[in-house]
Amino acid sequence: MTIQTTQPQFRLEQKRKITGDFPGPKSTELNARRAAVVAKGVASAVPVYVADADGGIVHDVDGNSFIDLGAGIAVTSVGASDPAVVGAVKEQVEHFTHTCFMVTPYEGYIAVAEKLNAITPGDFEKRTVLFNSGAEAVENAVKVARLATGRNAVVAFDHAYHGRTNLTMALTAKTMPYKANFGPFAPEVYRIPMSYPFREENPSITGAEAAQRAITMMEKQIGADSLAAIIIEPIQGEGGFIVPAEGFLPAIADWARENGVVFIADEVQSGFCRTGEWFAVNHEGVVPDIITMAKGIAGGMPLSAITGRADLFDAVHPGGLGGTYGGNPVACAAAIAAIGTMEEQDLAGRARHIEEIVTTRLRAVQADLGSHSVIGEVRGRGAMLAIELVVPGTNTPHAEATKAIAASCLQEGVIILTCGTYGNVIRLLPPLVIGDELLNDGLDVLEAAIRAVT
Ligand SMILES: *Cc1c(COP(=O)(O)O)cnc(C)c1O
Repeated sequence: MTIQTTQPQFRLEQKRKITGDFPGPKSTELNARRAAVVAKGVASAVPVYVADADGGIVHDVDGNSFIDLGAGIAVTSVGASDPAVVGAVKEQVEHFTHTCFMVTPYEGYIAVAEKLNAITPGDFEKRTVLFNSGAEAVENAVKVARLATGRNAVVAFDHAYHGRTNLTMALTAKTMPYKANFGPFAPEVYRIPMSYPFREENPSITGAEAAQRAITMMEKQIGADSLAAIIIEPIQGEGGFIVPAEGFLPAIADWARENGVVFIADEVQSGFCRTGEWFAVNHEGVVPDIITMAKGIAGGMPLSAITGRADLFDAVHPGGLGGTYGGNPVACAAAIAAIGTMEEQDLAGRARHIEEIVTTRLRAVQADLGSHSVIGEVRGRGAMLAIELVVPGTNTPHAEATKAIAASCLQEGVIILTCGTYGNVIRLLPPLVIGDELLNDGLDVLEAAIRAVT
């Protein structure tokens, strides 16, 4: 039997168009209104205001059309107005917008839990709880792990990003802008070394050896008996799209299992087909005890989830988990629709196709520019791809070049995000529905910007 996949349908023309100088007059006016009322602690990467968005295109209020290579930070994988998501949301809001699952429950929540239990790795019995944000999912994964194990300590990795609430700030590695002067932070959080192949002192260290380095530290400095959970992004997001060396994740997961430590995979950014599989852990067959999900889950509606071993979740007393809005019915309807689109359009396959196009092109530019270019490494999986930029001929992070490239792409109508502990990583997170032509147009612009700084 051949599986028929459908093609995305777009409302907006999938074409880049820059009308003149921008931010244009309407965005400039909105920026002025904003400055008077919105706290400057909330920063925006792009100074234009959105009027409409669909597929791989974002329209601003001044008539510019940008190619979206960020998807609102890996959220709108099915596009920002996927007809299935829009239809499901409309249908749901006409009936009820909220009742609170903890007061009068509804089917949508159960349907999402059934779906997540089915698509997450592991063939054991599972339970799911729904929340609103990635940080909230992470907080609750740790709550479950602590209660179920009766232990306190939690391990997180160098370069990790897990959110901006108090516990998740503690788990996050980078101080500026996420933590500086926002403490004191939650106790009993320990940080251990990641596998970061591009920046290892010993470049030939294997994934298993990097895992042993981390395990020795956990055993010597914390003690397995005190350790409730290890939380890790299988591909680190904000930290720089760091893909650990092969064998690293399985070795950490094995050690956790042998020592009764809950292995939490934070797939808030890497989940839902982004890396070419449902979840990034699938690439190495790693089965987490608990998996945290958000971003791509519901086509842009705020929803997050934790799914994992039933025995861990069922240790928690009734009323111990929840929240007023968690598993909002509109967000649940959107999630069912978005996951349906991922299946119908084989967006995991699309992500692998995007990887092929992007890495082929970027590695060709890297080879062409030779060893004295700003491209240190092209890496990532699926449509979670990155370029780490260095001062030519060295390993020194080149944050200025990274900023300059992102700025010149924006001037040409391409939205590009950056990340990384050293601010020197360009990350590509296009909506998975983006067409080849539009993607290639965006890559033309990116390529020209890279050549211009070299
Ligand atoms: C974005 C992110 C979070 C936090 O999610 P929010 O919805 O912003 O709270 C947590 N973990 C990872 C890996 C993320 O990328």
